[in-house]
Amino acid sequence: MLEVRDLWKAFGGFQAVSGVTLTVPAGSISAIIGPNGAGKTTLFNLITGHLTPDRGRVLLKGREVNGIAPHDLCRLGMGRSFQRTNIFPRLSVFQNVQAAFLSHRGRGWNLVTRVDRLYRDETVAILAAVGLLDRADDVSGFLSHGGQKQLELGIALALEPEILLLDEPTAGMSAAETREAIALIERLARERRLTLLFTEHDMGVVFSIAHHITVLHQGRVIADGSPDDVRRDPGVRRVYLGEIR
Ligand code: ADP
Ligand code: MG
Repeated sequence: MLEVRDLWKAFGGFQAVSGVTLTVPAGSISAIIGPNGAGKTTLFNLITGHLTPDRGRVLLKGREVNGIAPHDLCRLGMGRSFQRTNIFPRLSVFQNVQAAFLSHRGRGWNLVTRVDRLYRDETVAILAAVGLLDRADDVSGFLSHGGQKQLELGIALALEPEILLLDEPTAGMSAAETREAIALIERLARERRLTLLFTEHDMGVVFSIAHHITVLHQGRVIADGSPDDVRRDPGVRRVYLGEIR
């Protein structure tokens, strides 16, 4: 589904991503982990076209996508969410997801249908899938943090991705919220046959759902493999100092 080959990015004199290579097989759940500042968000921004790499290539379904703008990548099947929540806070929950459908599929030529009914069924289906149907008319900015993250997931799903990149989907959540969010993400990936690539700071989450883990440290890949391989890796254990059991 996705291949990253020898990707580099510096900010001024600071090398944030150094020669990262990784492969995300179609249908897999893959995680990128690493301490704060390891380069995870930068790597996501390079993959999703929000930043331009200094060097290296990104291939989506075998097609080179370097230099393609985020909204065009979205049309090619790549969706994402952000580490900081990214919704329209003054719109309702329903309107946020509906707006995603409108932007993705367009208004069309139907001049008879009222705007509030456009993509109504599709929007309802997404809200049900992410557990927000009973909050459809709420103002989005008033949702709990966990609720806003669920909504963000709904917005990403409305763009009908084949691969979904989630940057710290459980950031700022309580332990209970984290468990629920991860169960939701795992179920959605399975039901919608999504390929998932996510970053995460909670090691419990990572080791419970990822098929494949890449460990970044100071911009470099220091380990890459199955959860068991990564758990046993001495370099990883040094970086995480007992966080991984
Ligand atoms: P992570 O997501 O793993 O915590 P980031 O990719 O956000 O790490 O950051 C990696 C490093 O690059 C950090 O040291 C950060 O300060 C730096 N960095 C990120 N974005 C910029 C930027 N736009 N300009 C300068 N430095 C940046
Ligand atoms: Mg980050």
